[in-house]
Amino acid sequence: MTELSKDSKGLVLVNTGNGKGKTTAALGLTLRAWGNGFNILILQFIKGGWKYGELKGLAQLAPQVVVKQCGEGFTRRGDDQEKHKLAAQEALKEAQQEIANGKWDMVILDEINYAIDFGLVELDTVVEMIKNKPEKMHLVLTGRNAKPEIIELADLVTEMKEIKHPFKQGIKAQKGIEF
Ligand code: ATP
Ligand code: MG
Repeated sequence: MTELSKDSKGLVLVNTGNGKGKTTAALGLTLRAWGNGFNILILQFIKGGWKYGELKGLAQLAPQVVVKQCGEGFTRRGDDQEKHKLAAQEALKEAQQEIANGKWDMVILDEINYAIDFGLVELDTVVEMIKNKPEKMHLVLTGRNAKPEIIELADLVTEMKEIKHPFKQGIKAQKGIEF
């Protein structure tokens, strides 16, 4: 962990809501934290949630920035719910270990809210994990439908609100915007 001033405090941040920008805002934080010499870990709770563009960009920030897809990962849709559950729980276990190891200045749990909402990981386990995080470490949780218990624990909560989205006008995913 980077040497920080005495009065520094690790925050719990939540990016939720139905509008676009939850993951990309977390990427913006990653860039800013990287510029400060921080060590940042990004754990993906949804398989394929991260695109070639950002993965290539983040690779340039290594070894300060590490991106991990946990376990097998899981997909939003799929026939084998039990397999997804197992993968998500594996991811949560990995998150617990990484958060506890004291190496990271910032940990981003991408789509963890979705994993909770979908019943793949236990809310109580996540709540305990947040409560036990190292004091100076920043923890970022993204995904739609953040639970009230998570919002309650957080220091900073942003709800992305959809005003317009190109998909609604039939515009296809654009390079540099979606991937
Ligand atoms: P991004 O990664 O672009 O910041 P996000 O993390 O806020 O998006 P997710 O819930 O992770 O959004 O969904 C990822 C994908 O769904 C992205 O391709 C995104 O553009 C798309 N998406 C997000 N919000 C909307 C919306 N309101 N309508 C349609 N598609 C959306
Ligand atoms: Mg996202």
